[in-house]
Amino acid sequence: MGKNKEYYKLVRDNIKKLTPYSSARHEFSGHASVHLDANENPFDYHMYNRYPDPLQWDLKKKIGKLKGTTPETIFIGNGSDEPIDLLIRIFCTPGQDAIHVLEPTYGMYRVAADINDVEVHTTLLTESFEINEDRLFDNMDAHDRILWICSPNNPSGNVQDQQIMINILNRFDGIVVVDEAYIDFSKEASMVSMLQDYDNLVVLQTFSKAWGMAGLRCGLAFSSPWIIDLMNAVKPPYNVNEFTQKYLSEQLEKADEVRKEVSKILQERDRVFHFLESLDAVEDVFPSEANFILFRIQNSQEIFSGLQEKGIIVRNRTNVPLCKDCLRVTIGTEAENDQFMKQIKILCK
Ligand SMILES: *Cc1c(COP(=O)(O)O)cnc(C)c1O
Repeated sequence: MGKNKEYYKLVRDNIKKLTPYSSARHEFSGHASVHLDANENPFDYHMYNRYPDPLQWDLKKKIGKLKGTTPETIFIGNGSDEPIDLLIRIFCTPGQDAIHVLEPTYGMYRVAADINDVEVHTTLLTESFEINEDRLFDNMDAHDRILWICSPNNPSGNVQDQQIMINILNRFDGIVVVDEAYIDFSKEASMVSMLQDYDNLVVLQTFSKAWGMAGLRCGLAFSSPWIIDLMNAVKPPYNVNEFTQKYLSEQLEKADEVRKEVSKILQERDRVFHFLESLDAVEDVFPSEANFILFRIQNSQEIFSGLQEKGIIVRNRTNVPLCKDCLRVTIGTEAENDQFMKQIKILCK
């Protein structure tokens, strides 16, 4: 730590000057039996009549234990969408600064930047979806405040080389966000272990994928406390509701069950991968460390529509850079994968 000064200058002026909203729950966090400070309905049978903990400390302690980090380095958001938007609002001045993304990648970085009137600069990944460090640094300029790296990458499924990410953290004098939404499906270690060495690193994870709680809307950001403090200052005070906090707290006890599900999904991923490789119409199957597979197939449009007619929806990525004629299929249950494979085989005849 101690490099904050180097990066604090990146923070937008209005955010540096911000006095965050201070709620009743912020100002009193001890134990009391009579709560007459927040204009709540006092009848507890509603179950959710009280405002939730704005900083979700109980939950953060549990998550910290699970991830090997401290609560001060954790931000919990309403899906990953929230930290993505907050980071842009904290570090990028509209009409002036830019973010940098490595294409093809997750679409929300661009949408969040567009909404905030922040420019999006891009560098193409290689044909095998890896980062070309020289190409990246040739393309980056002084307006770039945040670089987004998605690893495992959506839609390609591959992980980025950790040494290259470390080089980037050292060379880039902006914020580096590593989106690890799919890390639980990967053999690669999380970058969370590097937080202590890099003040400009933010790692995103989510409960939407391996943890099976996409409907709950809960995403995580791990970073240096100075960045977490800024995110807390800018977020809506009660961004994670009480039901979510309680439910998640319980679900975190079930890490072993999640691991079992993940290993089943990985088995199925292998099966679908080898099936796709065996089809003559399939030109590329990209190795995946996530719970989906990207593949290039002849007549991709007809295959996509044909599957759709049978009620099987995959993601058509043909208009995405480097993904001409590519479809992305999520690994489902054994029965769902069987259906997908059966129909695609018929369509390829
Ligand atoms: C699915 C996904 C997320 C998760 O988004 P949530 O808002 O947490 O559901 C984040 N990043 C990537 C790359 C994803 O594919």
